Amino acid sequence: MQDTEQRQKALEEALRQTDELFDMFSKVIRRDWENTSTENLPENSDFSATAARLISKEGSSDIRQCLDLEALRNDCLSCNRCRLAKTRTNTVFGEGIEDRPDVFVIGEGPGETEDRTGRPFTGKAGELLERMLAAISLYRDTNCYISNIVKCRPPQNRDPLPDEKNACAAYIRQQVALTRPKAILCLGKPASSFMTRDDTASMSQLRGRFTLYDKSIPLICTYHPAAVLRNCELRRPVWEDLKKLARFLNLRIAGGDR
Ligand code: URA
Repeated sequence: MQDTEQRQKALEEALRQTDELFDMFSKVIRRDWENTSTENLPENSDFSATAARLISKEGSSDIRQCLDLEALRNDCLSCNRCRLAKTRTNTVFGEGIEDRPDVFVIGEGPGETEDRTGRPFTGKAGELLERMLAAISLYRDTNCYISNIVKCRPPQNRDPLPDEKNACAAYIRQQVALTRPKAILCLGKPASSFMTRDDTASMSQLRGRFTLYDKSIPLICTYHPAAVLRNCELRRPVWEDLKKLARFLNLRIAGGDR
């Protein structure tokens, strides 16, 4: 019993220290980002090379490496690389601030409304997402980019299958590389596992902790707004995670709660 308590205490202390370290680290990353000017980057900077390296590790499809989002979007709009193309109405590429958004928000895949509108998070979950983001001063038209790990709606909103995620992986990886967000917010298990490359951890283990995507971009996971709509007990942990993200980015928090 005593042993268990001691181990629990040691674990808590280790977690506290990790959080402290991350706080220190995140200050350094933020300073670096703030001092990096996009103007001086060569046109074909090594960001797309990074995406290509990640993609080749995934053994992914033949999506070509694009130098800008427009070319990538055009490729995506006519994509036929997996079975989801057969049942979609529209591809949902993503939208928002395309050059260094504060946050790149990543969901799982389009639902019924998104399939119809061609825009991410435009249904009920999207309404909640917008309210959640606004509470920490994030908006899709001013400082966020929003997309999904798969760009076509899985039938009956089932989770995307591994081969579908892999066929689509190059899009999200290139979108992140080309937009160069200051931070990434993953919503729900499929997006969180995929972007952290951890498919063994549960959502409660993945959420609320910063990790680094591609060794450089701070990434935090939280529950999907659709899950929050089903279970209001998830509102509190989501709010904690969002506040953590806001503190990292120095964003104003509704109600002044810091
Ligand atoms: N759920 C998602 O994960 N993405 C959307 O775009 C809409 C609902």
